[in-house]
Amino acid sequence: MTSDRKPPEFIISGAGIIGPLLANALKARNIPFVILERDTSLEFREKSGWAITLHYALEAFKNLVPKQKMDPLYDSQVRPNFHKSDSGNFKYINASTGEVVVCIPPSSRIRVRREQIRRVLLDGLEVEWDSKVESIDYHDDLVSVTCSNGKQYTGDVLIGCDGSNSITRRLIDPKEGGLYQLPIRFCGARVQLNKEEFDRISNHFDPLLFQGTVPETNTFFWYSALATPEYTKAPDLYYAQVNLSWNVPETDEPFETQEQKANALKKHSQGLSPELSWLVDRAVQNPEELMEIKLCDWEKVDWDDHDGKVLLALDSLHPMTMYRGSACNEGILDVAELVKQLDLHLQGLFSWKDAVANYRNSVQERARQAVLLSRQACLDAHDMSKIKPNSTSPLLSVRKSK
Ligand SMILES: Cc1cc2nc3c(=O)[nH]c(=O)nc-3n(C[C@H](O)[C@H](O)[C@H](O)COP(=O)(O)OP(=O)(O)OC[C@H]3O[C@@H](n4cnc5c(N)ncnc54)[C@H](O)[C@@H]3O)c2cc1C
Repeated sequence: MTSDRKPPEFIISGAGIIGPLLANALKARNIPFVILERDTSLEFREKSGWAITLHYALEAFKNLVPKQKMDPLYDSQVRPNFHKSDSGNFKYINASTGEVVVCIPPSSRIRVRREQIRRVLLDGLEVEWDSKVESIDYHDDLVSVTCSNGKQYTGDVLIGCDGSNSITRRLIDPKEGGLYQLPIRFCGARVQLNKEEFDRISNHFDPLLFQGTVPETNTFFWYSALATPEYTKAPDLYYAQVNLSWNVPETDEPFETQEQKANALKKHSQGLSPELSWLVDRAVQNPEELMEIKLCDWEKVDWDDHDGKVLLALDSLHPMTMYRGSACNEGILDVAELVKQLDLHLQGLFSWKDAVANYRNSVQERARQAVLLSRQACLDAHDMSKIKPNSTSPLLSVRKSK
């Protein structure tokens, strides 16, 4: 491995959120890196974007990005300047009646569009687009990756930031690197709203997001504001994310084509309050826009680091369901820990191998618990008996404990 005080050269696989976040911190330290991304361009998947709440890792996030990116970061909020007077709450409703079952005041947070913070993070960074990592080789102290375009890159450290289905994780752990699939199906879309519709939902429920369960069917409903005219650049054009998820039925439910997804959404929207069901009707109007998200996780959160030559972070390391809104926050804490260990290594306090061991220990302890709590939260969201005031379900207790 590298000698102490010599900065290791990083190969970052994946230009999602966590790869670019790490790259910003490396750049600030003049540590060399290359970012490899399978997509052909920044815009490739932007339409399927969603919003992310940065809450318990917000301060860590701010410490990892340069000061000049702070204003653009705050400009990525789904509602302009919302952090200045956060009037939202975490609301969980009975999705059949619309009544609020649990209402928890938020901690300090910002809710941002994923695609926009990604752009902010990538600003000023070079990315090797259309470079899908396909294989990894080790030679002495170095690691090489080969991409589908035939290009090869060699460095001291490869870090897999390539998402929940991480090729890096699957290559270093071919036997156990696969995902656990929960018996729940999740599907939805970005829907277009006008001002009257957007304001009505905001005033009646919550300006940022809310969730609920239909008691009769245990179907889960999720609404999240995404964009206002300040972002869409059209006076009456608003966007929101509308999703449903449900226990996978015992009867066969075809779910291959976009049309089948639309039919399933319509079927599972039965029992929703009329104040909400029209949102699902709006979502299925354009079946081609529907997006299924596989609800998977990986509780092992452990890997062979090949003497410090291969690392994993965020969804590559601890993919989890999004029912506690914690995956990205955990990933930010991964990067903060890695950078801390890197700094200590560069100061000569640890060998790189020890720095990586410290990173692994810290991440495992924290993230494994988050994976399991998120799995339980996902299951509980589809079981109305768990949805009550003073519930101890991790679905509802996260906002109190963090
Ligand atoms: C609907 C929804 C809501 C969410 N809300 C929250 C929230 O409120 N709070 C929170 O903390 N988290 C939330 N999350 C989770 C959060 O969005 C993810 O944890 C985060 O985006 C993962 O970032 P990442 O960089 O690890 O992976 P990704 O963003 O998935 O990026 C991985 C990148 O790697 C690239 N890639 C894949 N394979 C290869 C390869 N072979 N070679 C090169 N590149 C490759 C991909 O193209 C992609 O660009 C939510 C998730 C969803 C789906």
